[in-house]
Formats: sequence, C-alpha cells, structure tokens
Amino acid sequence: MKTFQYKNTTFEVVQGNIVEQEVDVIVNAANSSLLGGGGVDGAIHRAGGPSILEECKKIRAAQGGCSTGEAVVTTAGDLPAQHLVHTVGPVWRGGNDGEMVLLERAYRNSLELAAQKNASSIAFPSISTGAYRFPLDRASYVAVRTAILFLDEGGTIDTVRFVLFGDRDFEIFSEVLDEVTQTMTG
Ligand code: ADP
Repeated sequence: MKTFQYKNTTFEVVQGNIVEQEVDVIVNAANSSLLGGGGVDGAIHRAGGPSILEECKKIRAAQGGCSTGEAVVTTAGDLPAQHLVHTVGPVWRGGNDGEMVLLERAYRNSLELAAQKNASSIAFPSISTGAYRFPLDRASYVAVRTAILFLDEGGTIDTVRFVLFGDRDFEIFSEVLDEVTQTMTG
C-alpha cells in the first residue's frame, strides 16, 4: 500500500479487489444502463447480491439510466460498505472527445454523493481504464487531481482509497500519485 496525507485526508493506493474494501462507499465503474456488465460492475453485482440490481432498476425506471460523468447511489447489498456509488466513465476515443472532463466529472460526482451520505471513507476502482480503454496514466492523473480539488474546495472525507487490480496498474498509479501531489501540494 502507498499512502499520502493531504490536510485531514489520507490517500491510499492499494492493489486488490474493489469488492473486498471495507469502506463507507464503494464506487462502481458502471455503464449508462445501470443493469450490470463485466469488469468491476460484474464483480460488484456478483459479490453484492441481487438487491443492488433491483435498486438500479428502480433508478433506471425513474430517471432512465445514468449519463456519462454522472453518478447514482444505492445500498451496498452484501458488500462490506454502507453505500455504492455507480458512476459512468467515458469511453476513450483518442482524447479529443471531452474524455478528461467527463472522467473528472465521474470522480467529482462520486465524491459529492459520498459526502452527501456523510461517508468518511471511499474506495475507487480505476474508472474507464478497462473495457473503456482510457490510458491508465492519464486516468490516474485525473483521479488524484480531482480528489485534491474536491478537498481544496471544502469537501471533507478522511480516506480516499484507489484500488488497482493489477501490479503494473498499481505501480503506474503510485507514480502518478507522487507526481500530482508534488505539483499540486508543493
Ligand atoms: P470501465 O468499463 O469503466 O473501463 P472496467 O470494469 O472494465 O471499467 O475496468 C476498470 C478497471 O478496473 C480496469 O483496470 C480493470 O482491470 C479493473 N478491475 C476489474 N475488476 C476489478 C475488481 N474486481 N477490483 C478492482 N479493479 C478491477
């Protein structure tokens, strides 16, 4: 595990499985249907049980899914968390299609919803860097930068954990954490 302290918040970068994180809020890298999928989404629904999909279907019936960059909340079923935030990251289309801003929004809206639920800890997977093919170095940069800006603008949360599945992904994310925090926090 790699950690970084910023103001009252601990950033943690860990290699592991998102469904095993004991935090107040686990973030799901969902798709706009909210009906489940592969990767993180599949793992969360498998481990969390059917109640999560039932809640997602109700949200879908009420508001017609979830747009890219937006986020919705459900309970966490059998997962060791209080809530799930389902957010939809952008599909990478080469970088000139607003992908950076949309990914920033996905992180930002997730943090805001967690704060609304009075969460003191949140765990993120690497949104968009699987099936959606967002390059991991750029995605890591957006993830860390957005969390720091959220705190600078008055957001409060004790622990922000980034969970990387593979060891190479963990290394890249850790390097980016160093770079961004040195640049943004002196
Ligand atoms: P997206 O569709 O947003 O790209 P994916 O779920 O396909 O989301 O992948 C996002 C990232 O999460 C990828 O780097 C993938 O390797 C990783 N990943 C897949 N399953 C898990 C898991 N159970 N826990 C943590 N990370 C995971």
